[in-house]
Amino acid sequence: IAKEEGRNTYAMYTESLQSKLSEQIWIEHQLHKALDLNQLTLHYQPIVEGITSEILGIEALLRWNHPERGLISPTQFIPIAEQSGLIIPIGQWVLREACRQNKKWQDEGFQKVRIAVNLSARQFYSESLTEEIRTILEETELTPQYLELKITEGFMIKDPDYVNTVINGIRAMGVTVSIDDFGTGYSSLSQLRNFSVNVVKIDRSFVQNIGTDRNNISIVRAIIELAHGMNLKVVAEGIETETERKLLQQHNCDEMQGYFFAKPMDSDRFAQLWRQRMINSTIIESRVKIRN
Ligand code: C2E
Ligand code: MG
Ligand code: MG
Repeated sequence: IAKEEGRNTYAMYTESLQSKLSEQIWIEHQLHKALDLNQLTLHYQPIVEGITSEILGIEALLRWNHPERGLISPTQFIPIAEQSGLIIPIGQWVLREACRQNKKWQDEGFQKVRIAVNLSARQFYSESLTEEIRTILEETELTPQYLELKITEGFMIKDPDYVNTVINGIRAMGVTVSIDDFGTGYSSLSQLRNFSVNVVKIDRSFVQNIGTDRNNISIVRAIIELAHGMNLKVVAEGIETETERKLLQQHNCDEMQGYFFAKPMDSDRFAQLWRQRMINSTIIESRVKIRN
């Protein structure tokens, strides 16, 4: 019986491995065509001021709209794109599309804000990155100060000196560099001083349960104090409740992002929300003026 069971377990194991592999091959195969077939799109999530909800920035998040499977999450296909090298053309497309859209919103009269774009490790380590960024900024006519590139601690493992050289090259163009998912990587918090970035993003996992989890609140407080001590701006992501918002506010977090304020949405809905907020804040302003 034991032998039988062992065989079954083995069979199940190979089966699941098999299906995982074929899933991967399927995604890779389909992803090859996705760019040409216009199946990739960007969603946008506002980064806001914690008290007024005023939109201070935008994060661009990649979506794959597959005709049969619907929206496929980036967490499912980015690792595969990274492995296969497809992330290079995809990443270029994301960067160009985000810059184009931000410039378009600026031309339409929206408040000028930064758009944040995620870079993958492979993209970051590609030799032509700085040149590509420069070309895309020129083509889209977006002023460099309205672009922010997000990297993660994981990028540092290979070659910290090289990473900082690249970061400095990007910053020299006037583009902002932020460190994403901070605190989840291999490094200790004090490693922060080794990155020459402008912005730190606190990972969602530390924001969750911040009201009840004493460890999380201590970590968040430590990150904010450390970052402010180094003149870095702090953005918290994944805020879902008023309690979380309030606690982060109390701890002087500069900017916030999360479902509590708005979920990522397509460009039309984002523009709609933005227009609405602008109208609301004008109403509030004029009320204040009347009262005064
Ligand atoms: P990220 O850069 O940390 O982006 C934030 C993720 O958290 C997004 O997931 C966003 O939808 C989600 N999020 C925002 N607020 C909340 C909240 O209040 N609660 C919860 N539960 N989630 C929230 P998304 O869009 O699924 O992206 C996942 C990850 O995929 C991103 O994490 C990023 O690392 C990667 N990614 C997305 N777009 C790109 C891209 O264009 N290029 C690369 N290389 N990676 C990307
Ligand atoms: Mg990220
Ligand atoms: Mg993150």
